[in-house]
Amino acid sequence: MVTLHTEQFSSRLRERLSEPAMLDLTQRLIAIPSENPPGNQYEECARTLLEELNRLGFDDVRREGACVLASAGSGERTLYFSGHYDVVPAQSRDQFQPRVEGANLFGRGSSDMKSGLAAMIHAAAAARDEGFLKNGRIGIVLVPDEETAGPRGSRDLRARGLLGRDGIGMLTPEPTGGVIWNANRGAITLRATMRGKPAHVGRQFEGVNAFERALPAMTRLLDIKKEVELRETQHNIAPAAARKSILMLGGRAEAGTNFNVTPDFCSFTIDRRINPEEKLEEEKRRLRDTLEGFEIEMLQEEPAAATPAQDPLGAILSRHIASLTGKEPAFEMCPGLLETRFYAAYGVPAFAYGPGLLTVSHGPNEFVPIRNIAQCAAIYALTAAEMLR
Ligand SMILES: [Zn+2]
Repeated sequence: MVTLHTEQFSSRLRERLSEPAMLDLTQRLIAIPSENPPGNQYEECARTLLEELNRLGFDDVRREGACVLASAGSGERTLYFSGHYDVVPAQSRDQFQPRVEGANLFGRGSSDMKSGLAAMIHAAAAARDEGFLKNGRIGIVLVPDEETAGPRGSRDLRARGLLGRDGIGMLTPEPTGGVIWNANRGAITLRATMRGKPAHVGRQFEGVNAFERALPAMTRLLDIKKEVELRETQHNIAPAAARKSILMLGGRAEAGTNFNVTPDFCSFTIDRRINPEEKLEEEKRRLRDTLEGFEIEMLQEEPAAATPAQDPLGAILSRHIASLTGKEPAFEMCPGLLETRFYAAYGVPAFAYGPGLLTVSHGPNEFVPIRNIAQCAAIYALTAAEMLR
């Protein structure tokens, strides 16, 4: 395999990508409270992104519902840079006032993942301006609703046939903290409700106790939990305890109205997180069989996904990370859901790597090390250049 003359290109790119423009864009995005839930300020956030893409001379800049799409370069082959512009709710309103403190930028979305959006957008523009995109394109995909696996983001693009199923690869700048995520767990999340009939405790023979009716199924679920936790993924994830497949019971549970009335309902949630080695349909059927007689409300149903670390895109990405950061990145499984799953389901190799840190994401003191933004941009630009030449 012929490799790019990384040093030469990377010094030019780094010069170009050291512009304060990425920091500025990140700050402007942080100042828009695109909190999800409930899905605030999507319009304003999308408009800011559109303006930036137009300013940087992207082609085919357009809105598709709440999503923003654009492309750079020419040719048939497309490498997708995809990221989400929604953020989890802030712990305080101050988090929407971006603040530079020393080497870090603080604010909601600084790590997850508005700095990543700035990096991937500027990386694509720089790669194009350096003449790297003559035999292929970078497709920019900016979506909301990632934090809740909601309907207006990648799911909407897929439903309209606009999700890049023909891509040669997909990268998403989630806050991976220096590693590459090549796999993620799937989720089967549901609420089970047993119905009963209320009656005064003194005449409980006239009622139907929904709580008591639900108990045998709860015991069976505990048996399943024991068995599920014996299954371990072969994907890399730390610590060792995180390898076990997951069944969590009762994240939310309620029953009845008072201690002296037979409960007329009993409901509880189940959050089953499957490893990439497990089958979604099989695991779902098993839960449903156990919950016969309950009303079932599906809250979430998402497949697991994995791209082999040895895939060429992973190898190229890893090499540029190592050369720019001086540290060989590990390939790990993401503990939560990842939008790579939408692309992996079409057989498109998909990886997450971004400037942010998972440890501070979603927390009250979210920040991103500022130098990581330009570094990530250079890594994305070099990876695209090598994939698309
Ligand atoms: Zn994220």
